[in-house]
Amino acid sequence: VAASLGHYVIPIVNKLQDIFAQLGSQSTIELPQVAVVGSQSSGKSSVLEALVGRDFLPRGNDICTRRPLVLQLVQRKRNADGTEDEWGEFLHLPGEKFFDFNEIRREIQAETEREAGGNKGVSDKQIRLKIFSPNVLDITLVDLPGLTKVAVGDQPSDIEARIRTMIMSYIKLQTCMILAVTPANSDLANSDALQMAGIADPDGYRTIGVITKLDIMDRGTDARNFLLGKVIPLRLGYVGVVNRSQEDIMMNRSIKDALIAEEKFFRSRPVYSDLADRCGISQLAKKLNQILVQHIKTVLPGLKSRISATLVTVAKEHASYGEITESKAGQGALLLNILSKYSEAYSSMIEGKNKEMSTS
Ligand code: GDP
Ligand code: MG
Repeated sequence: VAASLGHYVIPIVNKLQDIFAQLGSQSTIELPQVAVVGSQSSGKSSVLEALVGRDFLPRGNDICTRRPLVLQLVQRKRNADGTEDEWGEFLHLPGEKFFDFNEIRREIQAETEREAGGNKGVSDKQIRLKIFSPNVLDITLVDLPGLTKVAVGDQPSDIEARIRTMIMSYIKLQTCMILAVTPANSDLANSDALQMAGIADPDGYRTIGVITKLDIMDRGTDARNFLLGKVIPLRLGYVGVVNRSQEDIMMNRSIKDALIAEEKFFRSRPVYSDLADRCGISQLAKKLNQILVQHIKTVLPGLKSRISATLVTVAKEHASYGEITESKAGQGALLLNILSKYSEAYSSMIEGKNKEMSTS
């Protein structure tokens, strides 16, 4: 599961990055960032955590996320002996490595309190955390405070407007994918998430609808019409998920167990049997992957022409040195050739994957 977000894209991005490294340029593929939007306690942090596959975010039925958490996932190679190290580092604690993910959660809580106080205060000052792991993509996820209507604790009376402005500053960016999270036990037409996403991304090219809490809907109701887009249509569609309940959290239920329980939930409910491609965290990861692959596909031609241009310049420069020219230009041509072949193979792979997905 840890690899769910990176299953398809990691190998592709790695190969490309290797090629770029040979050409002497740094990581040239910038993946879009992904932010969660929704009301307080709709399940935003739970969804992010499930996507990363590790337990480390504060969650609960109160305001837990009180500062934006910018989570940079950094892919790192396995150790020479095949073992893997996964750790976190905070920007505010340079040089300190957290190998225990429970410690990471405690530090997020402590750092939240240092800035926003202990009494439900909210601050727009970011917490920046990097997670290094062989099982992730180089992607940035942003966990944001949820929308609330009524000021509690130390919150100012204009708390709603403040949180809205904070969220908007992230999701208005064209490079930001929006996960609009709405619990299934509330009315989709009242969804703060969809309302805000609709303002930031009116054409819906960057918004994926996520319906949480399918397990605690009113008896006799189901989320079919939500998932089918019959209530509020969304270009990129919806995925329904079942995260851990508050009881699960108190009983320390693992992510792995929760995912098994989620699968069982959907398997045992005939109303969702024909909507398998819209149900479950794994489907959400798949959908995000498809979108990321699409993104890479879009930026690839630009990268290719940039490399060609560099090669021409380098070849010219070397031409002025005589002899060596041939071999250097030859190397350049070889690299360009590899890249072209690669992008072809890569395009056909995407087509293959898409086919595979539509039949699953
Ligand atoms: P956030 O405020 O949007 O980040 O929401 P959290 O992820 O902190 O979750 C809020 C509460 O809802 C927690 O107690 C979670 O255990 C619970 N929760 C989240 N998703 C689900 C779900 O799919 N089903 C159930 N039963 N509870 C959930
Ligand atoms: Mg949260």
